[in-house]
Amino acid sequence: NATDAHTGEVVSPLADRPVIKARLSSNENPFGPSQKARKALMEAIDDSYMYPREYTQQFKSMIAKEEGVTEEHILLGAGSSELLMASALNYTLKSGAGSSIISADPSYASLMRSASQYGSGWEKVALTKDYAHDLEAMEKKVSEKTSLVYICNPNNPTGTIVPAAKLASFCEVVSKKKPVFVDEAYIDYVDNPKKQSMMEAVRKGQNVIVARTFSKVHGFAGLRIGYVVALPETVKELSKYCTGGMNVCATSVRAAIASYTDADHLSYAIKKNAESRDFLYKVLKDAGYEYIPSHTNFVLFPLQMEGKRFTEEMMKRGVSIRNWEFDGKQWCRVSLGTMEQMQLFAGAFKELA
Ligand code: PLP
Repeated sequence: NATDAHTGEVVSPLADRPVIKARLSSNENPFGPSQKARKALMEAIDDSYMYPREYTQQFKSMIAKEEGVTEEHILLGAGSSELLMASALNYTLKSGAGSSIISADPSYASLMRSASQYGSGWEKVALTKDYAHDLEAMEKKVSEKTSLVYICNPNNPTGTIVPAAKLASFCEVVSKKKPVFVDEAYIDYVDNPKKQSMMEAVRKGQNVIVARTFSKVHGFAGLRIGYVVALPETVKELSKYCTGGMNVCATSVRAAIASYTDADHLSYAIKKNAESRDFLYKVLKDAGYEYIPSHTNFVLFPLQMEGKRFTEEMMKRGVSIRNWEFDGKQWCRVSLGTMEQMQLFAGAFKELA
């Protein structure tokens, strides 16, 4: 059986897979691309015999203007996964044998997993008692052998954030010693994303790499588009490991241009997400369960039964979720879907809880 590059899980053959009625396992936006993005996608098909140079340029210039940086600060990727991979490769090969990456535990493991395949170590730092990044402990871990520090803010799978001012001073201090990678895949779901974002650190010239994706609030997970904003010399280094400019397709980049400024669609997605989140909180509370308050499009809560069995039982009922085990507890992570999907979750959950 093949392994899913995204989750590291074994993928069963298509014929053996159960029918999924509510896919709540990959933190996607079930409403998909906006109407404007769909129109741009269709129009792009006619022109798709041409390389997308003009559009990748236009997209970069939009991001540069919005974020107050130059186009040389931006690298586009086929999803942010490609750029996580490029960073894993760059810093592991540059730092050599015996180097390691520091991250919170648990956090989004993709970058560290890729780096491990090229010989990197992985220093995991437990979360605080509130399940957020323990920045003090992470800073203390930084040493000569550190190649990179990975921060996922908001964090996946816990949905927690670290206060912007605290993270900004962490970036300022740590980036003088080692590069800091801030994965902001879920930043659009927080209150005041501009304030929470570490783009300012890049603008100030710090060695910080900020990653963004269109896979979440923009509803583009299948279209594969993301980017990093970093110092121009970092962008040059990372682009050795992805074919910058030739890696994203014209259809996706044109749809991204349309979606980038579609404030109505984004606020609709955020509103719907909040409705599903509040519904889920109530379902959990009513059943006597706790949960970690989420700043994202998923919620993590401690289970009262074995995680793997819970996941299997939910899957039998057509609901896919994911389970974790840490801090001596079994956890379930539910992505926030449409209200109909959340009701399917609630029905199945009540049978098991
Ligand atoms: N970063 C985080 C924190 C994620 O949760 C994900 C996907 O779930 C990604 C990056 C990868 O997203 P993509 O490659 O679709 O941009």
